[in-house]
Amino acid sequence: VNKYAGIREECLAANLLLSKTGLVDLTFGNVSVYDPTSGVFAIKPSGVPYEKLTADSIPVVDLDGDIVEGTYKPSSDTPTHRKLYASFGTKGVRAIVHTHSRSAVAFAQAGVEIPCLGTTHADYFHGAIPVTRTMTREEVAGDYEWETGVVIVEGFANLDPLEMPAALVRNHGPFAWGVSGAKAVECAQALEIVADGSLRTLSLSPLSIEAPQYLIDKHFYRKHGASAYYGQKF
Ligand SMILES: [Zn+2]
Repeated sequence: VNKYAGIREECLAANLLLSKTGLVDLTFGNVSVYDPTSGVFAIKPSGVPYEKLTADSIPVVDLDGDIVEGTYKPSSDTPTHRKLYASFGTKGVRAIVHTHSRSAVAFAQAGVEIPCLGTTHADYFHGAIPVTRTMTREEVAGDYEWETGVVIVEGFANLDPLEMPAALVRNHGPFAWGVSGAKAVECAQALEIVADGSLRTLSLSPLSIEAPQYLIDKHFYRKHGASAYYGQKF
């Protein structure tokens, strides 16, 4: 039986795509792909190098953390993905990417959100990319990876995860997501480009301020939502 071949293939393709983006140093990084109908997701297995990945090696996990298909142990970050799907899955999030990409990590380690300084940022992210609060000793000693998801979700009380498809976990690194495996990887890549650009902008001029809201809205909504008009209509 291979009931979840679709998401396993999509997850394999997205992990292989991620490994080619240059966002992954050493073995940091994983992608998962969610099936909202079944409430399960496929995720990179723990400690398997990208060049050894096959669809059969990709485990499928439900939102309680039980393995429903596959024999490999899922990524140690699986509980973070579980929490994010539990909260964002009904809002259209179908894939999640975690990396330690360098410039995004710089903001995460500084505990600084990434301000929306220009249109490259606004094409993907509708405003400043949030950074989570410091996790408590109890959260770190307890169900650490689950609590990592909890602090991300905490920051989204007033944010739509499809308008803000990324967050920085303080002292750690970025999570990005999207409506498909390929889209989530694209968001992780856009996030790193934006973080890199913001780092350079702020080093040239530390007092740089955010782009005007009307410019941010223009760029975000010409590519996303009901009145989008960017690109081809097929
Ligand atoms: Zn990590």
